[in-house]
Amino acid sequence: MENIREKLERIEQENLSEKACLSIKTKGRNRKEEPHLFRTAFQRDRDRIVHCKSFRRLKHKTQVFLSPYGDHYRTRLTHTLEVSQIARTIAKALRLNEDLTEAIALGHDLGHTPFGHSGEKALDDLLEGGFSHYKQSLRVVEKLEYEGKGLNLTFEVRDGISRHSKGMGEILNADASAMPQTLEGQIVRISDVIAYVNHDVDDALRAGVIKKEDIPSQLFKTLGKYHASRIDTMVDDVIKASLASDLDKIVMNREIMEAVMELRNFLYGRVYYNPHSRGELQKTEKILTDLYHHFLENPEEHIKPYPAEDPLEKRVGDFIAGMTDRYALRLYERFFMPLSWTIL
Ligand code: MG
Repeated sequence: MENIREKLERIEQENLSEKACLSIKTKGRNRKEEPHLFRTAFQRDRDRIVHCKSFRRLKHKTQVFLSPYGDHYRTRLTHTLEVSQIARTIAKALRLNEDLTEAIALGHDLGHTPFGHSGEKALDDLLEGGFSHYKQSLRVVEKLEYEGKGLNLTFEVRDGISRHSKGMGEILNADASAMPQTLEGQIVRISDVIAYVNHDVDDALRAGVIKKEDIPSQLFKTLGKYHASRIDTMVDDVIKASLASDLDKIVMNREIMEAVMELRNFLYGRVYYNPHSRGELQKTEKILTDLYHHFLENPEEHIKPYPAEDPLEKRVGDFIAGMTDRYALRLYERFFMPLSWTIL
């Protein structure tokens, strides 16, 4: 008799688009596992991500504005939830696999360092071979979580996680090698941008780093006057344009994509590299650099023995990358500041 998982797989087959990635068609896991009784492979991956420690630590990691400073700024966790929500809305509207989309979205930023991009830069300067958060996200799920055994996720979720990032690069028109292999992965790639260009404008206005008048007025005309309407315009455009292309790939119409890229350029110029916020963030580069050297000299207490094939430097990098902002600050106080200073 058909069990619940088999029934869910059948419902996917009957209801999803022929372009959807069905859980029954997954290329599978590195270590073979028995299928679950009532969850599909991608539901199971999503649950493993939500239950892992790196996921919980996202709540105390900076997105753009140092997270200890205000309760309403986005953190990596709330960013991740916004990406997931936007991506699921698009996946559902296109009749693609919402569970796969959600799993990729919830896992996409697990490799982020404390202190946002300055943390990433500090580790990139320190580590041989550099550091990038998307490679680290993959490393977290493959090699670091679950005491070094990894989460043993399906190929499609790992592919989507490792190919979500674009920096200032092409969002949906990148080389095939840079693009996720599934449409669900492509949805997360665009949803990440939709989430951050919108919430970073909102947070930058809240912080007083920019004023409404600073944003080119044409952008508001094209995208909408309000935060919610701008997200809506972008999501609506992805859905319509992708349907019009027969779901060969996930696309946006030119006018909206150009507006999104202009907004991203504006944020890079005015917010991410704003001298004031940069100045504060540069202090955090010193914190991570000092901690890195400290743990290279004193690995005993904190540095894990895995992945066994990696040198100490890389494992110290893993430890630092995994820290929350507040944990990094606490360790810095403990190792570098006289006790009386912290009491004052
Ligand atoms: Mg992200």
